[in-house]
Amino acid sequence: MPDKIARCLICNEEFTKEELGHASCCPKCGNSGLPANPKEDVSIKINWHELRILTIWANNWAVRIKDETKTQPQLTIACIARRIQKQHPDKTPLTLAGEIEQIKKETDFKITETNIDDKPNKIAGEFNA
Ligand SMILES: [Zn+2]
Repeated sequence: MPDKIARCLICNEEFTKEELGHASCCPKCGNSGLPANPKEDVSIKINWHELRILTIWANNWAVRIKDETKTQPQLTIACIARRIQKQHPDKTPLTLAGEIEQIKKETDFKITETNIDDKPNKIAGEFNA
């Protein structure tokens, strides 16, 4: 079985060199952002709070630059956070949008207005990433 050389950061699909061919975007979802090399996966020791800080700040930056690039930075961060969150579903959500979703599920508390965009998480669900 040929080695997978690329993983889309949005749909999480992995591709061999042959499957990619001369593609300039993800063959599955059309993401034009740089893919990850699955061979570069690592395990690291990090505190969940530290990871939340990094994720929240990355999302804030993605929101700021979302109109300046076609690489869907907000969706990319949401998909990465979702994949990490699935490894520890019992932990506090990694994004503020995820935290709001959790509050909505666990309480009768109604959030009628927020400046936190939770759409990327909903879009990410379409790819089952
Ligand atoms: Zn993709």
